Amino acid sequence: MSAGRFGGAAGLAASVRGGETTAAASVEAAFERIRAADGLHAFLSLREEAARSEAAEVDRRVARGSGADLPLAGVPVAVKDNIAVAGGPTTCGSRLLETFVPPFDATAIARLREAGAIVVGKTNLDEFAMGSSTENSAFGPTRNPHDPTRVAGGSSGGSVAAVAAGCVPLGLGSETGGSVRQPAAFCGAVGVKPTYGRVSRFGLVAFGSSLDQIGTIGRTVEDAALVLSVVAGSDPRDSTSSPEPVGELAAGLEDREPAGLRIGWPAEYFGEGLDPAILAACEEARDRLADGGAEIVDVSLPHSPYGIAVYYTVAIAEASSNLARYDGVRYGLRVPAGDLSSMYLKTRAAFGAELKRRIMLGTYVLSAGYYEAFYGKGTAVRARIRGDFERAFEQVDAILSPTTPTPAFPIGEKADDPLAMYLNDIYTVSANLAGIPAISLPWGRTPATVDRPALPIGIQLMGPDFLERRLFEIGRFLELQAPTE
Ligand code: GLN
Repeated sequence: MSAGRFGGAAGLAASVRGGETTAAASVEAAFERIRAADGLHAFLSLREEAARSEAAEVDRRVARGSGADLPLAGVPVAVKDNIAVAGGPTTCGSRLLETFVPPFDATAIARLREAGAIVVGKTNLDEFAMGSSTENSAFGPTRNPHDPTRVAGGSSGGSVAAVAAGCVPLGLGSETGGSVRQPAAFCGAVGVKPTYGRVSRFGLVAFGSSLDQIGTIGRTVEDAALVLSVVAGSDPRDSTSSPEPVGELAAGLEDREPAGLRIGWPAEYFGEGLDPAILAACEEARDRLADGGAEIVDVSLPHSPYGIAVYYTVAIAEASSNLARYDGVRYGLRVPAGDLSSMYLKTRAAFGAELKRRIMLGTYVLSAGYYEAFYGKGTAVRARIRGDFERAFEQVDAILSPTTPTPAFPIGEKADDPLAMYLNDIYTVSANLAGIPAISLPWGRTPATVDRPALPIGIQLMGPDFLERRLFEIGRFLELQAPTE
């Protein structure tokens, strides 16, 4: 599981550039590992032919001596199936887009290509990225590589499982409320939710537009940082993308020791419902930071208890609006019927149960008479949540917390209980609401008991806007201290 520690994506790209291996060989090896891990159902489609010809092109560039500017030369990447890759399916895990083929690449995909990376396949997700377990995929759940009877988490469960199982070193997912960090915690990978605006949303299918952000996945902090450095940066095709310079995100992370850093410990993130093994992991990580010379400071994020309510008001309101376009006229599925409104009804009946719930509730919270009471109040409390972080970051450089209240749960356990499912996101949604960057990294495992095997634990670091690099430096320090398996 720790293959990333022996070279990882940066090392692989260096060997492709140096001619010790080829992009073609790297891609073949990835397809072999993907086939071996088929039972996980991490992938919805593979790009075997396209990947082979792209790999051959990378190898030609290297042979011509022009490989030096390919930071991800020949590195296979798994991409969540709500990010457009031209010419192949982008299903969003939904019957509505089962046969949809985008004619263009998302900006993040175009940047991966320019860097020499090879997209090997599209990965499973909760329908339109709505869920926390990948069980809401119309095509069946993804399984956790550490225990196939358990969920991989969601909604980016496919990309994370593919990385954690060693099929590929890198993955792209999307984050609206924790969809990269939560599965990363469940599967024992590193997951990054960048600052809102850091990565272009062009070609990412919209869910909650004021929250959505493409996130990155690796087995090490350095790998997850490296792929972010490739996909990040302003883009004229996304007006919310930031002109803030990206800078070096992955090299020399070890040069920065925690001495002198102030690390926030938020009381609100260690309350009721937190698994004792996850609390212990956070305490251990905190103590290692203190041993390394960091000062641990108690901070308060008093509006955190409203995070779930606010998130599930704002996100579903935006979702109901974004999903109106799947009407059988413009994109994807159309179920023929005698007249226009029956065609709409029959086509939209193909959404899964969770999507229908969100479209109905989202329409309700936006409706005349209720708009102020729900959506208006939600956005007001959202501003308070952001204010909590602004105040905290006057005192501390970063905040340490759990990523999830529990480790991966059994498939089916929460499938019929939306509230229990939503509560998974209790520690992740605030960073999305506030727009700040956050990462999850592995910290040991829960002890094995009679009803539960040892399962990965994720710890979370949150930081001020655009200071992803600081989180990677602290994350790298912690990664070196983390209990080994
Ligand atoms: N689990 C959350 C939801 O269901 C977050 C999803 C996401 O980040 N895409 O909305």
